[in-house]
Amino acid sequence: MIDFAQRTIDLARQNVTEGGRPFATVIVKDGEILAESANKVAQTNDPTAHAEILAIREACTKLGTEHLVGTTIYVLAHPCPMCLGSLYYCSPDEVVFLTTRDAYEPHYVDDRKYFELATFYEEFAKDWRDRRLPMRYEPSPAAVDVYRFWQERNGGRRTATAVPPG
Ligand SMILES: [Zn+2]
Repeated sequence: MIDFAQRTIDLARQNVTEGGRPFATVIVKDGEILAESANKVAQTNDPTAHAEILAIREACTKLGTEHLVGTTIYVLAHPCPMCLGSLYYCSPDEVVFLTTRDAYEPHYVDDRKYFELATFYEEFAKDWRDRRLPMRYEPSPAAVDVYRFWQERNGGRRTATAVPPG
């Protein structure tokens, strides 16, 4: 039996030796590793190249589905809001995290213009008018028409997907 938590730690540690950031994700299905990735932001300059995102992308491509029901996803650290969102979208059975922000913050910080790790979640929860990220609502009926068009093309359906029973 593979120690998936240890595999996650090893991946992250290896990534650090290669100049990468200290995060990794391992996705497990039926007792085997389906997909895994370290954080590749430092290597690619892609701010969305978090380990969770890359591993979820690989797993979904492999399975040919956007639903990861029946999987357990190991992450080195409690996920950021972007990755938490991606984890919600793919519906795994369970997410296992090996460190909290409080535990790693003395050693690592990734604050940005519009958030700090300590304020990230409350920032997301705010009404859009109150967020530090400047946002402007420009109402457009033509934009709504795109959705109407999509619905027409899809037999009048409103739902884009159905989550298979896990
Ligand atoms: Zn993330």
